[in-house]
Amino acid sequence: MSADSRPVVLVVEDEPSYQDALNVGLTVEGFVVVGATTIGQAREVFARHSPNLVLLDVMLPDGSGIDYCREIHQTVRTPVIMVSARTSEVDVVLGLEIGAADYVTKPYRLRELVARMRAVLRRPPSEPSVSDGRVTIGDIDVDFVRRSVAKRSLPIELSRKEFDLLALFAEHRGQVVTREQCLDALWWGLDLVDTRTLDTHMKRLRQKIEDDPPHPRHLVTVRGVGFRLDD
Ligand code: CA
Repeated sequence: MSADSRPVVLVVEDEPSYQDALNVGLTVEGFVVVGATTIGQAREVFARHSPNLVLLDVMLPDGSGIDYCREIHQTVRTPVIMVSARTSEVDVVLGLEIGAADYVTKPYRLRELVARMRAVLRRPPSEPSVSDGRVTIGDIDVDFVRRSVAKRSLPIELSRKEFDLLALFAEHRGQVVTREQCLDALWWGLDLVDTRTLDTHMKRLRQKIEDDPPHPRHLVTVRGVGFRLDD
């Protein structure tokens, strides 16, 4: 692989021990690492390097990574993985629905972080129909920014995994999404998940969005391969 094809990751992190470990570890894993210790510095480095991915600490000396994540997504769709120091922060990050691609909690294992980074980078860029943050599938409206779903204008409550599944299918509407792609996107390719867990989430998702769940019109099973989202 030539140096030019290596993904560029912007690491926004103010703790020197994490900066050093990530510089070394991610370089070994084939990433070009550009670093920033403050949001102000991150803005400059982002403009100069146009990173493929941002690893963004929540607590930074000059502000909140949550606000900076929002700021990034006002102009570009570069995926952001949030890094939080406490599990309680994760709830805040998720609750605010800032459009982060994923999150990790300190202390994390480099191997797990890299697996998540690769899974995020493998996700194809959103279709133009999704780029304004909304997509309509038949009578179902999905708002990716607010992470909300409505059917015939009535709100539907989805769990995080159910929403992530629906978002994955919406990004590939009309195309087959393999079971492996589902597992990869939702569980970062870690072999922790029994594929029956995926079936359970699919069943619940169908019960919520289909008129006749045993005979789905939108979330179609492609036998032996995966699923397809039809209008
Ligand atoms: Ca910090």
